[in-house]
Amino acid sequence: MGEMYEAACRDCFHTFQSSDGGGFHFFDLHCTECGQVQSVAHDLIPEATEQYHRAAGEALAVDYSNAKPLIALPVDGEELSRLREAIAEATARFNEAIEPIIGRCSCGGRFALGAPVRCPFCKSTNTQRRVTLMDYD
Ligand SMILES: [Zn+2]
Ligand SMILES: [Zn+2]
Repeated sequence: MGEMYEAACRDCFHTFQSSDGGGFHFFDLHCTECGQVQSVAHDLIPEATEQYHRAAGEALAVDYSNAKPLIALPVDGEELSRLREAIAEATARFNEAIEPIIGRCSCGGRFALGAPVRCPFCKSTNTQRRVTLMDYD
């Protein structure tokens, strides 16, 4: 599920290591300001985790049904946007719930689910994943 990888910045041409995706028992969060990675165990935030997984699971089922039209699910555009909203809401609640638990990044930024990977040198989000160093669950 999760990956540790080497990435390259397209702006300043530094290479750096980052990770993404989380595992079965934790989330990988990125600082919204500097991109630093922080892993948070699901156990620390059981309610937010459950809510998030429920919303994400529903949306994945919908995307799956779109990719395989033979499986007829009663999902129209409205339902799809409702599910996307549910995910956005679960993500926002999740990010609120974790701040008191894991605190802020040393740079003063917040850790958030879905925050982009950033170059640690120039903070650019214009990065490219180059080599996978490790897969983990
Ligand atoms: Zn850079
Ligand atoms: Zn930071």
